[in-house]
Amino acid sequence: MSEIYNKFKHDSAIKAADKEHRSRIGYNIDQYNRAVVVGKQQFANLELAKQRAAYIKHKAINDLEKHLSDFETNFQHNGGKVIWATDARQAVTEIEKILQNIRPAYVVKSKSMISEELELNESLTKLGIEPIETDLGEYIVQQADEKPYHIVTPAMHKSKEDVAELFHRKFQLKPHSTPAEIAAFVREKLRDRFYNAKVGITGANFLLADTGSVCLTENEGNSMMSMAFPDVHIVVAGIERILPSIQHLELFWPLLSTFGTGQKVTVYNSIVSGPRQEDEIDGPREMIVILLDNGRSKVLAAKHQRRALSCIKCGACLNVCPVYKTIGGHTYNAPYTGPIGAVIMPWMRNFKDYMHLSYASTLCGACTEVCPVNINLHELLLYNRNADVEQKNYGFGESALMFGLRHVLGKRKWMDTPDYSLKNKAMSVLFSKSWGKTRKLPEFSERNFKQLWEERIEGKTR
Ligand code: SF4
Repeated sequence: MSEIYNKFKHDSAIKAADKEHRSRIGYNIDQYNRAVVVGKQQFANLELAKQRAAYIKHKAINDLEKHLSDFETNFQHNGGKVIWATDARQAVTEIEKILQNIRPAYVVKSKSMISEELELNESLTKLGIEPIETDLGEYIVQQADEKPYHIVTPAMHKSKEDVAELFHRKFQLKPHSTPAEIAAFVREKLRDRFYNAKVGITGANFLLADTGSVCLTENEGNSMMSMAFPDVHIVVAGIERILPSIQHLELFWPLLSTFGTGQKVTVYNSIVSGPRQEDEIDGPREMIVILLDNGRSKVLAAKHQRRALSCIKCGACLNVCPVYKTIGGHTYNAPYTGPIGAVIMPWMRNFKDYMHLSYASTLCGACTEVCPVNINLHELLLYNRNADVEQKNYGFGESALMFGLRHVLGKRKWMDTPDYSLKNKAMSVLFSKSWGKTRKLPEFSERNFKQLWEERIEGKTR
């Protein structure tokens, strides 16, 4: 078993027993759930909206090459530059090349979940360039020296008391500062950094093929400042972020805001179509979009799992997932977590190293039910398991066990012959380790199904 799997097992056992973590996540998700009910009211027919969004994204992903090529042509026509990166290493190298010419002391970052995929902060720090996260949640986790916990709310695992304590320790703010005081402090601290930044790096919520534009949606305005103040704006965007037309935003923006945070519409929505033009007074002098593959082509090539590329990263499937709520975001040890992470991470990274995530599911289907673009997540987890078997990623022990079970379970005589205590003993020997110490193994009842059936239907007694 891989080290990543062993760490997952170890960390999930600890987190699952952490009642404080569970109540904190439960509280924050309750707040989200209440908001979502209100946000959904803006849709006259939510199911129809979801179906339309699913159809548009599905078609866009099927025609990905054409739409990306249109985006490139149109964005270049607007004065921007496009770089294609096959993997994280190539994307980081390209960013480093740009930065080497400018030699900034720091870069301001926003909407930079994708940069977690590149481990960009670590690379920038090695170059002596300070990465400054400007989204409040990202800023909090950066100060705590942690990774984002959730794809939409990176500091969801922290209570306001945790954050106050962190800012007291790091910046000597008064103990028990309120969220408003902390936000004001961060705003003040970052404003100067924005004014003097030479480079801003952001992600993208959507890429528009027909206008060659990048869409950013946010609540704090830090993305706008990260791209408007610096001379150079670098966008790192996954190739699946494409939407064929600007017209589609009228559907996707409300869906993203409702399912992401429960808002009818996010506070700031920007469409950026290239660098500053001659008659414009602000905006970057240079704008570069890095189109990142980094394993997405592998997801695209997988017959069923390609549906997952329709994801708009709203985070709703994480919020309903009983596994995510129990083991928490950090345990996944991956940039994308929860059900969507469990589906795509094995393809985006080493299949064997991340395959265990597809088994860490109750298959309850809550993720599929909630998804605004109707991705059949729980079924895709089953397809991943199937791919795992087809790749023969199992050892001799499991293979022998399955061989034995196939023979025993396939014959009624074999099923019925041993008495229940022997069956329970076999269960305990074969499965108690994988079942875990904290759960009680299910037990065979004294009378088997055949005996119960005979009693009920045929009136036989023991
Ligand atoms: S899979 Fe669906 S619910 Fe989950 S983050 Fe993506 S769009 Fe949202």
